[in-house]
Amino acid sequence: MRVGIIGAGIGGLTLAHALSSQHIEVVLFDRDPASSCTGGYRLHLSEEALKSLHLALPAETEHALRKSGTGKETFKQFSILDHQGQTKLRIRQPDHSDPLMIGRLPLRTILASQLEHQIRWDTHFTCYEEADTGIRLHFANAESELVDVLVGADGVNSAVARQLLNRKTAKSAGVTAIAGKTRLTNHFRSSLYKDLFIGPGFAAGPQGIGMFLSVHDPVYDGPQEFVNSLIVHEEPYLIWSVAALDETFYTDLKELTSGELQLESLRLLHDWDQGYQELVNHSVEGETAAFKFWFPSNLSAWKHNRITLVGDAVHPMPPTGGLGASTAIIDAVHLAKMLNEQKDIPTALHMYQKAMLKYAPKAIDEARPPLFWQRRFTNEWIRKFAMSILLPAVDQALSINDRFRKK
Ligand SMILES: Cc1cc2nc3c(=O)[nH]c(=O)nc-3n(C[C@H](O)[C@H](O)[C@H](O)COP(=O)(O)OP(=O)(O)OC[C@H]3O[C@@H](n4cnc5c(N)ncnc54)[C@H](O)[C@@H]3O)c2cc1C
Repeated sequence: MRVGIIGAGIGGLTLAHALSSQHIEVVLFDRDPASSCTGGYRLHLSEEALKSLHLALPAETEHALRKSGTGKETFKQFSILDHQGQTKLRIRQPDHSDPLMIGRLPLRTILASQLEHQIRWDTHFTCYEEADTGIRLHFANAESELVDVLVGADGVNSAVARQLLNRKTAKSAGVTAIAGKTRLTNHFRSSLYKDLFIGPGFAAGPQGIGMFLSVHDPVYDGPQEFVNSLIVHEEPYLIWSVAALDETFYTDLKELTSGELQLESLRLLHDWDQGYQELVNHSVEGETAAFKFWFPSNLSAWKHNRITLVGDAVHPMPPTGGLGASTAIIDAVHLAKMLNEQKDIPTALHMYQKAMLKYAPKAIDEARPPLFWQRRFTNEWIRKFAMSILLPAVDQALSINDRFRKK
């Protein structure tokens, strides 16, 4: 069996590892010129995704991922702050939870590093054609290829999904974020809101404008760790992301440069505490980008004996639940398992789809509450009530509960 994967992103690369570990032939196609051409920031991988990766990856690759990111020591709580920099609610993480926080670049580079001979970079998929002998893949800039199974792992607005289902799989969530990266200098180490050093936070301000903040400060054992190893070193940074309802933005963000997006973020934060503005002001040049939030347009069953979809191609979700990459990984490992275990391809694809349609909607639902509150907070009364009464009361209740539990 020869499996062709469109998209060497997080889901596609994981799938390629999982299939290779079961000696199934696989070839990946990605329009990017190389894994080093990866945008984006730090991602949170759930424990469930890590368990899936454990089944799929060579031990050295898994070790490199762990060593290139951070674990539970940097995610002890999630804080909700107000736009003046005061923490209003601290949600402690369960002691046993052990996620991985890792930059998108190290994640993709490490996943791709042992698959280089199977990946065709700089290959832009355009469409497929069904032939008697399999599925023929066509590219804008390469010869066509014949595969037995086609997997669309080509992310939001997937071309594979569009042809397979004859419709788009993503619909706008009505929210867009501008995200950037700020180096964690000594100045920011001493001036930053303290709660952010023990876990990510979300600050809520007027007009439904919110800011997600997360410190990324991996600890490496020393230079010897990098010799002959896949570990990727990143300087400490903080990611920030200013999210607002689409109608809050003055212009089409697609047209704006990194510098202009930074200015647009500052405009949204004009009446926020200076600490927030300073972070945006000192962002790494050229690395500020805008991301639309997506939901699936209609996540339902489809029928095809040789073509399937994983990750954002079929179930895009807003980053507010932090589960998009994790779900893509879970899809990939599950699909590979089915292709290995089931006696025929149509049954394997059907079994994968059936399971995915159960767990993916739950992951999507995790992303909904923050967006619900973001809309509610456009009402000043609701926001003020939540910030001055509701959240501090919940904070008190949680801390009393915590003290009792410890006793
Ligand atoms: C700001 C932000 C923060 C996020 N934070 C988190 C988080 O903390 N935790 C989490 O779990 N998720 C997070 N996510 C979501 C996560 O990034 C995605 O869900 C995840 O990358 C999906 O993986 P994928 O493999 O489906 O798609 P992708 O990783 O997007 O990969 C798709 C690949 O397909 C390629 N491609 C597309 N079209 C073609 C074509 N026509 N021909 C060839 N190649 C093509 C692209 O180049 C790309 O490499 C975040 C997203 C954003 C925007």
